[in-house]
Amino acid sequence: MTTLCGVVGWPVAHSRSPAMHNAAYAALGMDWNYLALPVEPDLFAETVRALPGSGYRGINVTVPHKVAALALADEASAAAREIGASNSLRFDADGWIVAENTDAGGFIDALGEQPAGRTALVLGAGGAARAIVYALREAGAAEVRVWNRTPERARELAADLGVSVVESPGAADILVNSTTVGLDRALPAADAIEALGLADLDPPPIVVDLLYGEGDSPVCAWARRGGAQVFDGLEMLVGQGARSFEDWTGREAPIDVMRAAARGVSR
Ligand code: NAP
Repeated sequence: MTTLCGVVGWPVAHSRSPAMHNAAYAALGMDWNYLALPVEPDLFAETVRALPGSGYRGINVTVPHKVAALALADEASAAAREIGASNSLRFDADGWIVAENTDAGGFIDALGEQPAGRTALVLGAGGAARAIVYALREAGAAEVRVWNRTPERARELAADLGVSVVESPGAADILVNSTTVGLDRALPAADAIEALGLADLDPPPIVVDLLYGEGDSPVCAWARRGGAQVFDGLEMLVGQGARSFEDWTGREAPIDVMRAAARGVSR
């Protein structure tokens, strides 16, 4: 029987994960299949509990289910517990559900060794920001600062993860946009930069935007104009996907194949 994996979200049709994982299975000659599973929040827990019995080995979990995924798991990694969310569930043979957070490691894979000893400024205090702050801290960043439009959320995140809060964005070695600003491409780029408090700042040497899509996001364009080294969210998507792949299959992920599939390039 074909072994199944998938990504559960609401909505999920836009996801590049099926192309990325199915390309990896094909490259390694595996009889596995990865599906996009749209599941509304009220049905999340009962649907996920039924998946192991239907041939599923694991799932990625995306908006809005990452907190619920951690809650239903029987066991969770230290990263998933401290971040408070899981984007990757593994179904063991005995029906045990293990929660992992591969967003954090995927982000570091995308950046390489760069955070160690450097200061980082994270914009945002949602689920993605929690994974980024945890990842930067674990990777040995000298200091991690959080800025968020709603300051109480930044304070709560910072207290949970032992980092600091800033009232407005300022200088750092690495800047990460983990807000949704820029997702709405109808918003003029200048307004997006203004909303993030970046209009009067020079970009730091390294800038990451978790968003990805056609062309540069407003933050990537701002950073590139200022000569920064720029990473978009696609490399993090590939990194988290590769880590989930390895957790479920026990095999080394064919990362170049996954990257090409995620970028929509045929190889
Ligand atoms: P979320 O929990 O909804 O958080 C959204 C964040 O954006 C909050 O901090 C919110 O601030 C801020 N925000 C929204 N509108 C804003 C505005 N007009 N001005 C300033 N700040 C604003 O979302 P999330 O799950 O953390 O995801 C954030 C982004 O990361 C999404 O675009 C997601 O697609 C992306 N992501 C990418 C990857 C990847 O692999 N590349 C993985 C995970 C997430 P308030 O608290 O003030 O509302």
